[in-house]
Amino acid sequence: MKTHAGIQCQEIYSRIYRIILPLPGEKPGPVNAFLFTGRIVTLVDTGTLKAIPVLDRALKELGMAFSDINQIIITHGHIDHYGAARAIVKRSCGTATVMANEEDLPLIEHGLEVPRRQLIKFYRLMGVPWRFQVSLIFLQAIFKSLAENCPVNRFLSDGEKITIGDYEATIIATPGHTRGSISLYLEKEGILFPGDHILGHITPNALVMLETDFVLPRRISQIEYYYSLDKVEKISPRTVYPAHGEPIDDVGKTIALFREQFLQRQNSILSILHAGEYTVYQIGRMLFPEIRGKRLPLEIFLAVSEVYTHLQVLEKEGALVSSFNNGAIYYMLSS
Ligand SMILES: [Zn+2]
Repeated sequence: MKTHAGIQCQEIYSRIYRIILPLPGEKPGPVNAFLFTGRIVTLVDTGTLKAIPVLDRALKELGMAFSDINQIIITHGHIDHYGAARAIVKRSCGTATVMANEEDLPLIEHGLEVPRRQLIKFYRLMGVPWRFQVSLIFLQAIFKSLAENCPVNRFLSDGEKITIGDYEATIIATPGHTRGSISLYLEKEGILFPGDHILGHITPNALVMLETDFVLPRRISQIEYYYSLDKVEKISPRTVYPAHGEPIDDVGKTIALFREQFLQRQNSILSILHAGEYTVYQIGRMLFPEIRGKRLPLEIFLAVSEVYTHLQVLEKEGALVSSFNNGAIYYMLSS
């Protein structure tokens, strides 16, 4: 990989560049943005606001500037993917069109999937103690320092074809990680850009899909995620360039590994429930010992989300039942 003054920018295919952008924290690691040069200059994912100087230098290295960017495609509404979009649009003198799937609009335009009070209600049902519910406010403050909300100019939907750089890409809706996660597929070249739907170095998570008008999620993220994995398996791309980590050549193997890990996780949850009935938060603490010590707000959200989405599947399959007690939901094995 070509490295200049700490900038990592590599041509991964003719006129397609991978730019590695910094992201605080260990997981999921630096963000890969992809710059398609040529006819319609397109940036796929932007990194957070901290990525702006790195993008600036990478563009300069290629003899370009922010004003050359025609389109910004956001694979999904998480701050490491859209955080710098608004700042880039400003630097492009307002000419860059921002595109994403409509379902992630609340995340990209407002920074939140649902109003905070809705998330707090959900936390209460999950049995999360009060002090951590408050910590959510800090989490939002951190997010605000890393990302600006950004208006989306054009929606991208499943099956749509779009020109990026000199290539034709098909939009594939791959919900699961978020409601509006999309992958970009260059069919002729056999290259897939899945955002966070598929990662090589860690198992992606199907985050809980909260509702504005209902306390419990109606959609089962984990099941939607499985369907989206099936979709990718079916098209069987030659190479996958995820939004974090290294490219994947054998996507079938990676998908099989994910399925195995999800089954293992479900089995761990079932074995915890053999000992009694617990809230989502209690199961999360047993499953992820790392949240016991530090109890970082993001880690707590991720643990609650992961446990809950697995419980949704297990409950649908009839393996367990839930009951309401003292303001929280308790899960137990069905007899
Ligand atoms: Zn990400």
